[in-house]
Amino acid sequence: MTDRANDLTAWDRDHFFHPSTPAGQHARGDTPRRQIVGGDGVHIIDSTGKRSLDAFGGLYCVNVGYGRTEIADAMAAQAHALAYYHAYAGHSTEASITLSRMIIERAPANMSRVYFGLSGSDANETNIKLVWYYNNILGRPEKKKIISRWRGYHGSGVMTGSLTGLQVFHDHFDLPRAPILHTDAPYYFRRDDLDLTEAQFTARCAQRLEDMILTEGPDTIAAFWAEPVLGTGGIVPPPAGYWPAIQAVLVKYDILLVADEVVTGFGRLGTMFGSDHYGMTPDLITIAKGLTSAYAPLSGSIVSDKIWQVIVDGADRMGPMGHGWTYSAHPVCAAAGVANLKLIDDLGLVENARTTGAYLRQGLQDALGTHPNVGDVRGEGMLAAVELVADRDSRRFYDPAQKIGPRIATAMLERGVIARAMPQGDILGFAPPLCLTPAEADTIISVTRDAITATLG
Ligand code: PLP
Repeated sequence: MTDRANDLTAWDRDHFFHPSTPAGQHARGDTPRRQIVGGDGVHIIDSTGKRSLDAFGGLYCVNVGYGRTEIADAMAAQAHALAYYHAYAGHSTEASITLSRMIIERAPANMSRVYFGLSGSDANETNIKLVWYYNNILGRPEKKKIISRWRGYHGSGVMTGSLTGLQVFHDHFDLPRAPILHTDAPYYFRRDDLDLTEAQFTARCAQRLEDMILTEGPDTIAAFWAEPVLGTGGIVPPPAGYWPAIQAVLVKYDILLVADEVVTGFGRLGTMFGSDHYGMTPDLITIAKGLTSAYAPLSGSIVSDKIWQVIVDGADRMGPMGHGWTYSAHPVCAAAGVANLKLIDDLGLVENARTTGAYLRQGLQDALGTHPNVGDVRGEGMLAAVELVADRDSRRFYDPAQKIGPRIATAMLERGVIARAMPQGDILGFAPPLCLTPAEADTIISVTRDAITATLG
């Protein structure tokens, strides 16, 4: 290694506090470190020159792929013209206005305004506050509880980490906090009663939600929070009929639906929004990742007409809402968003997510569907998952201590493909850039098969 590379390795171990990384092991040099220097299309390149096919698109966010000069140029032009001005008190830039318009044009029907943030977590935080504000303005101060789902992922903040339904994001942080409640994950493969049909399981999810609402008191429940497809919780499309059944319960008790489309927004499911894909009619939508394909940090809360009218009424009577971020609608990020959404259209990436995504899932199914340790191959659009089991017939899961998922992901990385070992269960997750080609899908499929065989025999 050069002196410079040695320095960087030491500084990384000594000074960089990485997210989701075993702190002590990393500091002691016991975990791998990797410095990424470039990327093009679906590939990243590290400082040793190794190219890897990134089958998780960063953290399912680099939707247009790496190295898109159109976006880099748009950001540079904006930074030269005006790197920053705030959006308080009616200020805007051409980029932020244009992007608002482009988002509403693409959003499901009845959406009205976009409030910009920087991350999926802060946009969900904004949406929590909007839900509470809404009920306060309507004179319903008791209607504040929010129901999310076990295995949902909605961020890492105090309230958004509470919405999240994954153990590792709660443990040792005193989460979840009130007034957040969790109901069943719509995860048919992991149902506790194996005799249930899919239709029975869907009906039970809706019934359990209704039971919780009735136990807590419908007048205390403000909103239901959900990703159209469970993401970090295991990449799990909902069972048939799930969204109509859930929405019927929400309508019955006047409960808002917040669709967290941080992963599914802007094409991931082969439709512009997951809400449209499943016929959901949310009152608020959370967006991030695919909005800029992660070329710049930008998120948004899309507010429906129904909520907007109440906000207008509240502001007229009470004055402006005390809620704002310094970097809301940051011009450089907004310019990245405009260029990114144009590119998604110009390259036909929503359509490609649908067709090449289906090709990838079918290929994984064909290659692995009969493997004795593959319990489930599933997905939707350009999202796929392979769930490993110790015994297929009895659906017996592995002991988590065996770390089967992480070991297979490591074996895949050695073979040049990045998949994600999802955090709860032995699940390999795939969310490649939406520009994936069938030949690249073939590489993912063959490397997954080889890595599973090498790890499990
Ligand atoms: N919501 C969903 C569905 C996500 O998948 C994520 C991140 O993966 C978030 C929210 C949080 O986004 P961020 O990490 O940008 O705060």
